[in-house]
Amino acid sequence: TEGTPAGRVWLITGATSGFGRAIAEAALAAGDIVVAAARRPEAAGDLVAAHPDRAFAVRLDVTDTARAAAVAGEVVRRHGRIDVLVNNAGRSQIGAVEETTEEELRELMELHFFGPVALVRAVLPHMRRQGSGVIVQMSSMGGQMSFAGFGAYSATKFALEGLSEALADEVAPFGVRVLIVEPGAFRTALFGDALYRSAAMEAYEETVGATRTMASGADGKQPGDPALAAAAILTALEADPMPLRL
Ligand code: NDP
Repeated sequence: TEGTPAGRVWLITGATSGFGRAIAEAALAAGDIVVAAARRPEAAGDLVAAHPDRAFAVRLDVTDTARAAAVAGEVVRRHGRIDVLVNNAGRSQIGAVEETTEEELRELMELHFFGPVALVRAVLPHMRRQGSGVIVQMSSMGGQMSFAGFGAYSATKFALEGLSEALADEVAPFGVRVLIVEPGAFRTALFGDALYRSAAMEAYEETVGATRTMASGADGKQPGDPALAAAAILTALEADPMPLRL
């Protein structure tokens, strides 16, 4: 593959916690420029302080699609290009389908589907002009299969994956790649502490963790550390497996 130049420009949503933050840290460690977006950008203040010339925090609620598009445009105006968009912002939603309200479903679709699609639309003209770029779609193992209590969550991730598979074929001729990432269970703020302390989560980790690609303890990191996922994603920017199952 042609690869991306050093000093890449990244726009990462949900970059203040969990995967997004780990990806931002890995990109900064690689010498890249990172625009970290979240509803509370002040939570990325330490990243900005550590790399004042290469790390920028911006306030963005991705469900505000007009603002999302404006932020993408602003990244290109300020930094001249956009090399990697990471559609990562998200949240958990656990509950029986029967108990999930239409409003809850629509809100989750805004966050996991319509927001990311708006960002894709906004960055694509620039990536096409550049003849390069990678769109990283943070889906989930739940974007490939589902189980009781995960109906709403999975529905939004299935939607994102369906769109992204078509998108990958559409933009490949322009030198733009789409990387769908399907993590299993990682230790982030997504479910809060409670779920990770529960016996159910331990059993889930045992099953999922054992088959996780990056669970080999490389760098002394434990399975479920989002830094392992970030490292895999940075490698995949060049290697281009699709989807990336973690
Ligand atoms: P975290 O809760 O640790 O991080 C979520 C991030 O998203 C935060 O930075 C949060 O910041 C941001 N965010 C939430 N809502 C919005 C919004 N409306 N607009 C912009 N930013 C928002 O969770 P994870 O790191 O675990 O989750 C990241 C992605 O990974 C999600 O898409 C999730 O579905 C996916 N995933 C996670 C798995 C896991 O095991 N942890 C497994 C599979 C997939 P702020 O509140 O300031 O906006």
